[in-house]
Amino acid sequence: MQDMALTWRRQGQIVGLVPTMGFLHEGHLSLVRLARAQSKVVVLSLFVNPTQFGANEDLDRYPSNIERDLAYCEAEGVDVVFMPKADEVYAEDASVFVQEQKLSQGLCGMSRPIHFQGVLTVVAKLFNLCLPDLAVFGEKDAQQLRLIRRMVRDLNFPVEIISGPIVREEDGLAMSSRNSNLSEAERGEALVLRKSLLAIVDAKTFGERNVKRLRAMVEEFLREATLGTLDYLEFVDDETLEPVGHIEDRPVLVAMAVQFPSARLIDNIVLT
Ligand code: AMP
Repeated sequence: MQDMALTWRRQGQIVGLVPTMGFLHEGHLSLVRLARAQSKVVVLSLFVNPTQFGANEDLDRYPSNIERDLAYCEAEGVDVVFMPKADEVYAEDASVFVQEQKLSQGLCGMSRPIHFQGVLTVVAKLFNLCLPDLAVFGEKDAQQLRLIRRMVRDLNFPVEIISGPIVREEDGLAMSSRNSNLSEAERGEALVLRKSLLAIVDAKTFGERNVKRLRAMVEEFLREATLGTLDYLEFVDDETLEPVGHIEDRPVLVAMAVQFPSARLIDNIVLT
């Protein structure tokens, strides 16, 4: 992979990278199209990165359909699908990792303490392996996107980070590979994330700016609407990811995670 990337670089070809864990859906493909629009060579990496999963998480149950993924990639004009094995990516005695110390503390970092170290390390490795000029990530993983931008800034990676909006199912559920693990009943309840976020937007439109009251409103709704448990609902400054108590003029990222028996789902919205 690196040899090929070095050749492209010497030839002056613009390389766009789309990192994924596979089981592709329209959300991933929308990122491929963003990469395609700006690159001569599009690389899609397909790697279920073990270091970003905690011990009790769903690494073993992460869905996969390589044949279908490759067909999607071909149809979208992806030039290279980079599909390394875990033992090719990590030396057995690997001892250097990328750790971020501020933006990674809250939100998903609270319930998944080693998650972002795994994400940033693998993204740094993918940048070094694929040598992209640009890389595309989804707003679906809002905290991840902000952390990657921070890593690129703080470690001077010569990679432009492009983001794509959240792609949703017709009923509003954010597309996710993990949705396929949901039972029928859970799939019905999964809409509570989107509904909660839209209720917050509505309440804000009607003048409610107090985060405590907005959170109480959503907690009450969730108690009635789902058996899933709220992992977190946070209102944070969109740039610093510091919690806010009151919505003022600066953009506020509202991010949430709900744990269902078969999958943990996330969603978010930025209040501007
Ligand atoms: P994953 O395969 O879940 O690790 O996701 C790979 C990339 O696709 C990440 O940058 C995600 O943020 C992005 N992504 C996943 N789901 C969506 C979606 N519904 N809309 C837009 N981007 C997404």
